[in-house]
Parts: sequence; C-alpha cells; structure tokens
Amino acid sequence: MTLLELENVAVAYGRIEALHGISLTVNEGEVVALIGANGAGKTTTMRAISGTRSLAAGKITFNGEDISKLRADLRVVRGLCQSPEGRQIFPGMTVMENLDMGAYTRRDSAGIAADLDRVLTLFPRLAERRKQAGGTLSGGEQQMLAVGRALMSRPKLLLLDEPSMGLAPLVIRQIFDIITEINQQGTTILLVEQNAQQALSRAHRGYVLETGRIVKEGSGQDLLHDPSVKEAYLGVA
Ligand code: ATP
Repeated sequence: MTLLELENVAVAYGRIEALHGISLTVNEGEVVALIGANGAGKTTTMRAISGTRSLAAGKITFNGEDISKLRADLRVVRGLCQSPEGRQIFPGMTVMENLDMGAYTRRDSAGIAADLDRVLTLFPRLAERRKQAGGTLSGGEQQMLAVGRALMSRPKLLLLDEPSMGLAPLVIRQIFDIITEINQQGTTILLVEQNAQQALSRAHRGYVLETGRIVKEGSGQDLLHDPSVKEAYLGVA
C-alpha cells in the first residue's frame, strides 16, 4: 500500500524554484533513500513533506489523505514525523526530557512507556545517559537522541534528514543498523542522505535528485551498481 505520494511537487524560495515538480512514492514497510549532491533539494523535499515549507505546485498524499495544505503540527498527529538535519534536540533538557517531548501529542501513557522502553533498548547509550543534558552529548549521541525522540511520536512514517551527517564511520554504521532495526519493527522510513553507499545498501528503493529534479529511481541494489550513480555519488570512477 502507498503510504506517501508526491505528485509533481514544486517548492520555491522567493522567485527561485528549488524543486521543479518531483514525484515519488513510499510504500508501507519500506526504507526509501533520496540521494543527491549539495543543493540538490533533499532538505527542501523533506520540508515540503513535513509541512515546514508550502508547495508552489503539486500534491502530497499521506495515508490516503491530501495533506498538501495541512499544517505541520497536524501532519505529526497523522503519524508523519521528521528527525531534522542538524539534530535540533533541546540542549538544556535531559535525555529523558527530550524523549518525553517526542510523545507530546500522545495521551496513551501505557503505549508511551512501552515505546520509551523500546527506544532505550535500541539505544543503550541513551539509557546510560538518561539524566545528562542533551547539549553535552557527543554528535553521534545527539543524533541517536533525535531519532529516539522522533520514534517516541510513534510515527507511521519516519523522515530522517542526513542521519549520518558529521559522524565517524563506525557510528554511521551503528546508526544505519538501528535504522534497519526500526524498519524491521514496522516503521516505514524515508531518508535523505549524502552518504549514498550506506543509504542505498540499506534501502529497498531509492531516488536520485539533481538540481531539483528526480533523474533516476530504482531498487537500492540497482542504484548501488548503476555506473552513473557510482561515478557521481559513490566516488568510484
Ligand atoms: P545539502 O546536501 O547541501 O544540505 P540539499 O540537497 O538538502 O543540500 P536544499 O537545502 O534542499 O539542498 O537546497 C536546494 C536549493 O534551495 C539550494 O540551491 C539552496 O541554496 C536553496 N535554498 C534552500 N533553502 C533556502 C532558503 N531558505 N532560501 C533560499 N534558498 C534556499
């Protein structure tokens, strides 16, 4: 079943159009990767989906509903949750307080407690540091906290913007292991990445974005082995 569909979505910043009518789908249960170079429009695509940027044209359907004009906070209530680029955790709050904030739209205390258990099991590092201020965590730990906080909203679709940004190779692998595990536990994931190697090797399907247009799509494995993708994004001539 199609969970998310973008049809000819265009987004502009003032008079400059950053997305020129892109179309993509995410099916329930999938991990889908959107890859592209700096400035290709990956973050803009995420903003369009999360509702922090309005559309100049096109349509976004989520779970059968046209959400093109729906407010960002109401998209979160519908089950669309973004763990943003640059992390944006609350630096003055503890790890636990940050995780609690993720569940702010929920009222089911038993479900919240179960999800907190799940997040602390997925991220033992956060469990050890539950009383530590978010702002004093390492970069990788802050990324884990951002993902953990997003999971606390129990999303139908988790949007991850550059989960590997600024992290060491070993930590990147750990973050992607957890992304795979979260997906296997039933969460659908759309992730935007410059680290095409990791993203495509973990994704069921992928899209390649170039200067505001989707230029290629395919299974993660097909894209990994595509000569032009290899040359442009995988550093292999
Ligand atoms: P990166 O990997 O470098 O983060 P990206 O693929 O996420 O890049 P976007 O951030 O979506 O790219 O940017 C797409 C285009 O839109 C770029 O040309 C960028 O300069 C422009 N852009 C992004 N945000 C704004 C803004 N707030 N105002 C004006 N132009 C913007």
